[in-house]
Amino acid sequence: MNVALAAAFTAPGLAIGSFLNVVAARLPLRRSLVKPRSACMSCGTEIASRDNIPVVSYLVLRGRCRTCKAKISPRYPAVELVTGLLVGGCALRFGLTPYALLAAGFCVVLVVLSAIDLELRILPDRIVLPATVVVLLAQEIRQPSFEWPLAAFAAALFLFIAAVVHPRGMGMGDVKLMLLVGAMLGRTVSVALMIGLLSALVPSVVLFARHGGAARSMKVPLGPFLALGAIVALFAGHPILHWYLGLSK
Ligand SMILES: [Zn+2]
Repeated sequence: MNVALAAAFTAPGLAIGSFLNVVAARLPLRRSLVKPRSACMSCGTEIASRDNIPVVSYLVLRGRCRTCKAKISPRYPAVELVTGLLVGGCALRFGLTPYALLAAGFCVVLVVLSAIDLELRILPDRIVLPATVVVLLAQEIRQPSFEWPLAAFAAALFLFIAAVVHPRGMGMGDVKLMLLVGAMLGRTVSVALMIGLLSALVPSVVLFARHGGAARSMKVPLGPFLALGAIVALFAGHPILHWYLGLSK
């Protein structure tokens, strides 16, 4: 798999990212994902096709609505760009294989869950649970093993215990997310948890440094950090795990 071919997969990835913005905005509200067409949040004008090109339109319009000039959230092009890079990255890392498709689907679900968690502080069961079932089935077909369900339950149990001991900032949504991550990653879910939980400390430390005790009341969603850990582990979990196990010898 060469870089040019991976780049070719980035384009549909950007388009998927554009759709994820629609899903993130509408699914939690139980609105249709296909109708009506997207419209400006401020003036309600329907967004024309030429203004709906992932990332490009945001840059051309300089982040403002063509009609009313209201600011468009940079979250939209960010979701598109991240999705495009992850889909292209899966093609590059895993080649033209069924696993690359599964991995890309896993990344896409993590991106939309992160966008929803950042905005609404929820990880909808309606995405997490069906995705977990699909991933578990796909993994069992690909490589029948107890590893997938075992990793799913172990990771969820770990976070469940952590949430009971230290409830602040952790919820049952995060516990269920680890079912999905464990089913996909198997034993390297340990890498995902470690990186996810360590990276989640960064904003907590920054908030504490800036706001002192008041930072205690500022909630940082855990989902996007668990997703980050999952993606790092998806691409590099085995080398990281071997390196870590080598250190402790
Ligand atoms: Zn507008």
